[in-house]
Amino acid sequence: EKYKEGMEKTRNSFSSKINDLIARYRKVDEDFFEELEEVLITADVGVNTVMDLIDELKMEVKRRNIKDTKEVKEVISEKLVEIYYGDDSQQIEELNLQEDGLTVLLVVGVNGAGKTTSIGKLANQLKSEGKNVVLAAGDTFRAGAIEQLEVWGERAGVDVIKHTAGSDPAAVIFDAIKAAKAREADVLICDTAGRLQNKVNLMNELEKVKRVIEREVPGAPHEVLLVLDATTGQNALSQAKTFSESTDVSGIVLTKLDGTAKGGIVLAIRHELNIPVKFVGLGEKMEDLRKFDANAFVYGLFA
Ligand code: GDP
Repeated sequence: EKYKEGMEKTRNSFSSKINDLIARYRKVDEDFFEELEEVLITADVGVNTVMDLIDELKMEVKRRNIKDTKEVKEVISEKLVEIYYGDDSQQIEELNLQEDGLTVLLVVGVNGAGKTTSIGKLANQLKSEGKNVVLAAGDTFRAGAIEQLEVWGERAGVDVIKHTAGSDPAAVIFDAIKAAKAREADVLICDTAGRLQNKVNLMNELEKVKRVIEREVPGAPHEVLLVLDATTGQNALSQAKTFSESTDVSGIVLTKLDGTAKGGIVLAIRHELNIPVKFVGLGEKMEDLRKFDANAFVYGLFA
């Protein structure tokens, strides 16, 4: 339900264009594919991804000897899911949570992407699954970041470990790990600063934080989650490239899908960068974070 609601803008725009296309063409031909290509690019699926998809579609249409555009709709959904996974796995890619001991999640992304909000939502979700969660206020740079995380911590009913603004993020994370261990927490979620304009400093800082985590908790961080704002479209894709070049990003949290008609970006991220989208943000409220399910997403586009 939430998926349907949160995806309304993308769905309305996408399904009406596809339906219009199918009604106008009836026969599957070269012009049909060309217009379909345009619809997909407008939905921010990404040029490279669209090209691959159209190639696959053409082959499949030929293989199945499909002539009528009405029949092609099903093939489009199938291929969109396939292009997302890039293989046959087609299963929801779950968060890497440890059975025993502390799981450490490192959350990165530029300011305004929805990092703090997503951490709050995730903390709430994990807590409702029975996990003992602690948050680390590792963004000591952005004014108000610590206080904002505390507000979310309070809402979710989880502890926030913090130092004063401007202090060393690595020291905050170190203390947070100690506190999480002392409280026998299951999950520690670490916020980080997100100023991309000073890329070298940011990356050095992330590396330092990561080293502390690696040293204090063997096998950690268990996830490096990159938070991206879906409304920034292709810019989100280039941010993902920049971050993944500097650190091993294991999953994406794609926020504000409710605020864009260009939800196709989710497919481009997975296809072009091979990083799974683990969560999507579908609103500003606590419960508006969902595990990403490519099947529900794609079939939601046509619902
Ligand atoms: P940060 O600077 O990356 O920590 O970003 P914030 O968490 O402060 O979020 C920036 C703004 O985006 C806030 O106004 C949030 O309410 C809003 N936001 C975050 N996630 C979502 C989402 O999934 N949907 C919508 N509509 N707004 C969101």
